[in-house]
Amino acid sequence: MQAVLIKQHNRLLRLRIPNEVKVVYVWGKGLALFAQKKFKKGEKVIGLKGKLVAASTSTPEAIQVTGTKFLDTKYLVPEDFINHSCSPNTRLDLVKREFTAIKNILPNEEITFNYLTTEWDMKRWDTDFQCACGSPNCLGHIKGFRYLTHRQKANLKPLLSPFLLSKL
Ligand SMILES: [Zn+2]
Repeated sequence: MQAVLIKQHNRLLRLRIPNEVKVVYVWGKGLALFAQKKFKKGEKVIGLKGKLVAASTSTPEAIQVTGTKFLDTKYLVPEDFINHSCSPNTRLDLVKREFTAIKNILPNEEITFNYLTTEWDMKRWDTDFQCACGSPNCLGHIKGFRYLTHRQKANLKPLLSPFLLSKL
């Protein structure tokens, strides 16, 4: 376990990070989570902590679980630093509550997941953003699953949360 000091809400917090991963500052991108070891496809990369809270009281890092409930933590946790990618190397398994590798991940590779596989409407909560993941299938403005075309939604099917699967 490593510890990193992070300032949040004007308080200095000690962030505990499992040895398998590390938090790295990437210029132009901000903080990101990187692998410290090799993860095989199907392997757990990191767990997801949090409690179910109402959408209106959740933080921008919260993960959507149902139409009205989000999984959230009061303070930052290492998995909050997993950035979005349109070609991610993990998927979020909300049943096991973990980020699972969907391809082999090498040490010093950034750990990513596709926010559009859990978030229905990010525009509504002002968490939409312009993606710069650089992948050939980059979707550009990331606004939420509801804004995708039918084909784009269907392409994400194997990675979707149970809630978004119900929206297909
Ligand atoms: Zn992208």
